This record gives sequence, structure tokens and C-alpha cells, in this order.
Amino acid sequence: MLNQYFHRFIIFSIFSFCFMSCSSGILVSDPTIVFSTPTIKTNKTTNTPFQVRTINPTPLSITETPLPEKDLNPPESIRYTIDLVFDYLNQTANVEQKIRYKNNSQISITELLLSCDTLRTDNVFVLADSKIDGNPSNVEIGGFWLKYKLSTPLEPGHELEVELNYSLNLPKIPEPADDKKPVIFGYTVLQSNFVDWYPMIVPRDDDGNWILHDPWFYGEYLVYPLADFDISLKIQNAPAGYLVAASDTPTSVGNDSHVYLYENARNFVWSISPSFQFSQEKIDGVTVTSYYFPFHQAAGEQVLKEVISAIKLYSDIFGPYPRSNLSIVEADFLDGMEYDGLFFLSKGFYNLYDGSPKGYLTTIAVHETAHQWWYALIANDQALEPWVDEALCTYSEFLYYESVYAELIEWWWQYRVDFYKPDGKIDLSIYDYHGFLPYRDSTYLRGAKFFHDLRSRMGDEQFFLFLKEYVETNKDKISSGNDIWRSITQNSPNDFNDLKMEYFNNESQ
Ligand SMILES: [Zn+2]
Repeated sequence: MLNQYFHRFIIFSIFSFCFMSCSSGILVSDPTIVFSTPTIKTNKTTNTPFQVRTINPTPLSITETPLPEKDLNPPESIRYTIDLVFDYLNQTANVEQKIRYKNNSQISITELLLSCDTLRTDNVFVLADSKIDGNPSNVEIGGFWLKYKLSTPLEPGHELEVELNYSLNLPKIPEPADDKKPVIFGYTVLQSNFVDWYPMIVPRDDDGNWILHDPWFYGEYLVYPLADFDISLKIQNAPAGYLVAASDTPTSVGNDSHVYLYENARNFVWSISPSFQFSQEKIDGVTVTSYYFPFHQAAGEQVLKEVISAIKLYSDIFGPYPRSNLSIVEADFLDGMEYDGLFFLSKGFYNLYDGSPKGYLTTIAVHETAHQWWYALIANDQALEPWVDEALCTYSEFLYYESVYAELIEWWWQYRVDFYKPDGKIDLSIYDYHGFLPYRDSTYLRGAKFFHDLRSRMGDEQFFLFLKEYVETNKDKISSGNDIWRSITQNSPNDFNDLKMEYFNNESQ
């Protein structure tokens, strides 16, 4: 009996996945539930179009200094010019998009790959027309990407322009369910959210391979190169008094039109609601706005206060806040999610707010704020190395409590980390964890413990020097675990092999 039970337990564990993305690492619903999904697809390369980088990063040697790795930062130059007309009544949008792309690498390009996340839901993205340099294009439409075969290769130093005309039929964001991953792109009666809503040029590695991984049941899969955004939004048939929250403040606002110029950013996202109220403050040239629903004013104002404190603290210990705007948007779905210049914070956290910083409203607000450094300023491969941003953001929560609410640090460790008894290696890809909870426990929670142990080993002075040096060296780039280790070893003569053994995957050694 025991053996049979044990066998069934193993099978269950292998096929247990929780359909949550939850960038915050918190399930607003029961955090202990794990769902069985025996039909899960485990071949993660089935849908990949071509030359897609799916290799796992080389684990660090425990006895040698890290080897140089592939540079994910050829100096591409990408500019999006997007005119969108949004019909609020029908929740549809017509979009004219141009992408100016310059090949700054040394490798000519014969095929161009764009991610297109909206293709993941049927009948949402409808392509009407597409051209390259004004000529009809040869485009293949995949499950979450567009691939162009170029009639003539794009040689190093040359530019091209992609034109796309398409419509978006926003999907209704489904009611929260324990067996479904929360949806962000789409609409509810309270808000419409535009995230990863336009076809996007993905980065290339230094061999010229496009970096586009498969979407997964939890975690994030996109890697964002820096780009410039000229965005024009026209809103039709919206109730009076609606507000638009966006990655940046608009350069102009007219009659139902909003124009933005957002440069050197990872993405541009926005959310519109007839119900938003807001509180706003400016600190050191940064506009911080908290958008919330009317029944959550106290929580919405508290979020603004905490986020401003976090921006001040993180600017001090990591380096200056990298943007001139931060929009905090109460989310009508059970998730928190970071984007460049904007993050969503689940209404569930607002509901739970009891006037105290001892709760997820504060914890996750400062976590998402830290993503403006560990995601926006320094991007990373979220699919292959999710710990690179999530472990740092989770430890940033601790740094916040340590500085602002020192009396709550024991509570934070207990409530946020130790309660879950996290184990597992912190540096696996999203595909290698068997479910959301093992993924969350390892990358977020044990990731925070790793940075705390590292700090004990290095001492405060060296540890904070390391963080600043890591930011200075990697800002505006796509960073990796090896980049983190490089900064650690440059700022400390200590031996960290035991920490690598404890927290990192050293299987190939
Ligand atoms: Zn996060």
C-alpha cells in the first residue's frame, strides 16, 4: 500500500502544475493548492518556429570562475510607431503599427521574428495587411509569433520598416478560477488592459538566433530588448470620466486622444477604466500615480506612500530610479504583474488591506517597484533564468522592511518565506520546475534566502557595493546569472562554493 501510494505521489508530483503566472509569487487564492493536469504538453520546442534559442544556460562551475557566455545584447535599434483606435463599447481596437529596425549586428538577417502574444487566444489578433519597406510581405503566422522571410537579406548596418495593420478583439478576462492562469490582456466591467498587445521584435544572441521561448503554464517567457515607442491612442465610445493609466505620462492629451513618447524602454502598456480614481505625487522628477477603484481609496493611497518610500530607498541602494514615471494599477484579476513604468496589483491585496504594512498590499507593491530595476532597467531571460529578477525583487522586499519597518523583518521572513518551507535549486528554467509552487518556492523564496546568505558572507559594505556595481555594469542590458556572479566575485575575495552547491544547479559538474 505504502509503495503504491508513494508511486502515485511521484506521478502526481511530476504532472502537477498550477496554472498561475503570478509575477508577485503570491496566489491571492489559496496558496497551498496544486492542481493535477495530466494532459500537460512537455515538449517545449513543438511550436518554436526556427532558430529559437532554447538552450539552458550553462550552470556555474563550482570550482572555477564563470565562463564568458553569449552576449544577448547586440546593439539593435528598434522603434515602434503605433496608432491605435479603441472602441470601448465593443472592446475592439484597430491598430496601425510601424517598426523601424536596424541590424546593428555583424550577421545578416534573412528571417525576421516577432513575438505576438495576442495570438495565443483565438480570434483576438486579426492581421489585415503587412508590408516590409512598402512591399507586400511573406509572413507566416504561428501560435504566438509572426515570421517574415525577407526577399533580400538585411545586411549589417541596414534598416527596414515593417508595417502592420490589424485589429484586436479584446477577450473577456475570465472570472478567477483555481485551475486557470490569470489573464491580464483583455477586459472586465472595471478595466481594459493592453499588455504585450503589439507584435514585438525579440532580441538575438550573438550567433544571430532569435530569442523567443515557448509560453508556459506559469512564469514569464518573453525577453525584452530596449526600444523606443511613439504611441497614439484614440478612445471611442467610452463612458465619461474614464482614465488611462500607462507606462509613461502623455506628451499630449486631446479630445479622447493620448500621445506618448517612451524611449529606451522594455515595453509600453496601458489600462483604461471608467472607474479609476487616482492619487499622484512627484518625487525627484518622477511622477508616481496610484490608480484604484473607488471602494479602495485608503488602500490605493497607502500603496502610493509605500511605493514612494521604496523608490527613495532603492534609488539609494541600487542606483537612480530609471524612469520618469511609475503607474500603479489596481488589477481586476488575481495577480500582480510588472511592466516597464507600470505594474498591476491585484484587487485581492486591496481587499485584504487592514491599515497595516503587515500584508501583501505593501509587500507586493514594493516587490513590483523593485522590478523597475530588476526587469526594466536590467532585463533578463525570464524563461531560462527567472531567478535573476525574481530573487532580487523578493529580497528587495526584505530590504524595504529592514529599512522602513525594521520591527517587521521577522514577520516578513515567516509570512513571506519560511511558512512555505521553500526548497529546490533557484536557477532552473521555468520549464524545469514541476508546477507554480515549486517554481515560486525556489526562484522567489529560496532566491531571497540566497541573497541574504550571500550578504552575510560578503558583509554589508561589500554586498551593497556588489548591487550598485551590478546595476552600473548591466543597466539597459539583458543580464544573466553569470553577470550577477561576475559582480559578486569582483566585489569580494570570499569563496562561495558552498553557497553555489546549496542553492544552484550544479548537475553538470
Ligand atoms: Zn516579481
